[in-house]
Amino acid sequence: MPYFVSSAARSAAATAGPGRVLLASPRGYCAGADRAVVTVEKALDRYGPPVYVRQQTVRNAHVVRALERRGAVFVGATDEVPEGAVVVCPEHGTAFEVHAEAARRGLTTVDASCPRVTKVHLEARRFAREGYDILLIGREGHEEVVGALGEAPDRVHLVGGPDDVPYLRVADEGRVVWLSQTTLSVDETAVTVHALKARFPAVLGPPGDDICYATRNRQATVRRLAGICDLVLVIGSRKSAAAARLAETAVLAGVPAAHLVDCAEEIDPAWLRGMSTVGLTSGASVPEILVAEALDRLAAYGFDDVEVIGAEAGGPEWRPAGVAWLGDDRGF
Ligand code: SF4
Repeated sequence: MPYFVSSAARSAAATAGPGRVLLASPRGYCAGADRAVVTVEKALDRYGPPVYVRQQTVRNAHVVRALERRGAVFVGATDEVPEGAVVVCPEHGTAFEVHAEAARRGLTTVDASCPRVTKVHLEARRFAREGYDILLIGREGHEEVVGALGEAPDRVHLVGGPDDVPYLRVADEGRVVWLSQTTLSVDETAVTVHALKARFPAVLGPPGDDICYATRNRQATVRRLAGICDLVLVIGSRKSAAAARLAETAVLAGVPAAHLVDCAEEIDPAWLRGMSTVGLTSGASVPEILVAEALDRLAAYGFDDVEVIGAEAGGPEWRPAGVAWLGDDRGF
């Protein structure tokens, strides 16, 4: 569907274009977000509406509206769900207390946890059992972090960044391990890990990377875009940690300007003045239709030459040795 652009907006961008759009690949839905939406759909099929869904499960307003039309009811917390009802818990995990509260109230809980998040939670549990103090790099209050802290409250210490490192107190400095939230900035996490290694020389790392492939590959592509674009646009919810990290990654990688927008309407034509190359990507819970609408809007402003760009010129995406490329760029 062509995107409508008012004459006022068109004149605001009058000095922009003709320009290029470099479209990131991979972008958009990761396997975990895709799985969460499918889980809600399957719960609706199996139990019938209403199915209650914790808000953090699906962050994109477009997808939320589609699921609401089928009978999903989005709630902020489990205590808003009527007793005996069905509730879907988010892909970035659920704190132990939330599961316990759901059981007390007779709720049927459908778990949409992403396997990558479950991996971090299981690592926290295992290292705590083995007597380690766990230094969890993450954002305070994020569902995934709350879940990991709940695995071993006495053993897991939240590390927001390098500034927190001097204040950490552990039982045995020879028995510490760092883990991380799955959706952090790869670059910022590396700085924090460096500080942890300086403070605790014996610190272990996670058995496999905690930041998931979807997050890494999207950030690697944005880093490349930042080096060759005048402006990077990220489509995604402001509530999404992964989308916010994409915009931050672009700025850290040196792009003159980056904006996080919920949808095409939020692209301000004034941003395009004097620009010749715009990079476009989307967060891990954003459907392709929103990218298509953004491309339509950019084309209306003269940015109609679109080229798809990967993480490396002609190269494969980053992935650990031994992991096969299966042709699905949404992978965990
Ligand atoms: S961003 Fe990564 S960890 Fe989060 S849901 Fe997607 S695949 Fe899973």
